[in-house]
Amino acid sequence: MVRKKKEYTPRELGDHRLRPESLMMGYGYRPEWSEGAIKCPIFQTSTFTFKSAEEGKAFFELAYGLREQRPTETLGLIYSRLNNPDLEILEDRLALWDDAESAAVHASGMAAIATTVFTFLRPGDVLLHSEPLYGGTEYLLTQMVPQFGIEVLGFPAGAAGPAAAERALAERKIADTLGMIFVETPANPTNDLVDISHFAELARQHSSRRKVVLAVDNTFLGPLFQHPLKFGADLVIYSATKFIGGHSDVIAGAVLGSEGLVNKVRWTRTFLGTATDPWTGWLLLRSLETLKLRMTCQVKNAQQVADFLATHPKVDRVHYLGHITEDNPQYEVYRRQCIAPGAMVAFEIRGGEAEAFRFLNALKLIHLAVSLGGTESLAEHPATMTHADVPVEDQPRMGITPALVRLSIGVEHPDDLIADLDQALAAV
Ligand SMILES: *Cc1c(COP(=O)(O)O)cnc(C)c1O
Repeated sequence: MVRKKKEYTPRELGDHRLRPESLMMGYGYRPEWSEGAIKCPIFQTSTFTFKSAEEGKAFFELAYGLREQRPTETLGLIYSRLNNPDLEILEDRLALWDDAESAAVHASGMAAIATTVFTFLRPGDVLLHSEPLYGGTEYLLTQMVPQFGIEVLGFPAGAAGPAAAERALAERKIADTLGMIFVETPANPTNDLVDISHFAELARQHSSRRKVVLAVDNTFLGPLFQHPLKFGADLVIYSATKFIGGHSDVIAGAVLGSEGLVNKVRWTRTFLGTATDPWTGWLLLRSLETLKLRMTCQVKNAQQVADFLATHPKVDRVHYLGHITEDNPQYEVYRRQCIAPGAMVAFEIRGGEAEAFRFLNALKLIHLAVSLGGTESLAEHPATMTHADVPVEDQPRMGITPALVRLSIGVEHPDDLIADLDQALAAV
């Protein structure tokens, strides 16, 4: 197999630009490279032979940045911690959805986030982040990152965010040491939004000394329904475990952005050893073929589920982007930034933890499990599960109440999902 980047399947037919969903089956791979196999084989190998010692030398010069890449030259395959055909093809396809120049896949969403943070931050730097965050990210940023001499400041997702972020920066008079802004939007589990354009502008204002990187965790709506790079983000990060993998059977992550920035992340990935493996890469290639089908169906189902919950007498409040109304200060951000409301629905059941637990224990079709974005619908209790590490006194501020239940809606028949929710609510 000899992959020549310039000889890829075309992205255009004349003036007609092909959509990502049409390119997921073949882009970046040619059957003649592998005995006519229509699917890219799994290159289950740790290392790759060089045709000559001179070739090996040239590959290492590029891999270790010892000299500039010549115009006609591409980095050859060396060792699967650095690169592998399945992972390179996956990266090329993944980048299409966000119209990114480059992508780097990782062993998990956390590996992608940690590798990015340790690429761009050094002792003395400040990291500004939205909250609430995914539990693992929250722990990494607030418990581990400060141990490396990096100051970490949070601001709330939602309408109060921009002013709170300005205040946090001004109070500490550390504006010129800001190194990164990390944003998760919509926030988990409340679906509060962060205005990406606003924080792109803030990053730009603080970039006189050096570039402040705006990284957006786009796991909840991306890669179909929100494209942070279009709003000025520098990097998009995914837990590919969720919608991208979509079948609750792999753990993986990705970082997307400009060639220059993603190459920096890739460099760190090589030395931390946080790339993923060929088998996972192959499974994700398969997942990408049905990504649009799955996510489109999941959004449609979620809308019906949210509508049902909103009228149910045992439900106090539904947090769903599809229900955001014009009088909500977040409405304008939603209309500008999001293409669809996604498949995550959170709601407060009338009562508290006891009622939430009774409901969760009564579900028959929907599984009681954390994670999200898979073909099967899942339900969980953020306060005691995904967000258990958020101190109890901080939970209400982040909208995490004892009555809150989070649903990830799958591809089942919507009437079946509603029937299950209905019978579980009746049991409360
Ligand atoms: C799951 C998740 C992560 C972490 O991803 P892993 O693949 O589990 O490491 C990060 N951010 C968000 C928003 C997530 O949902």
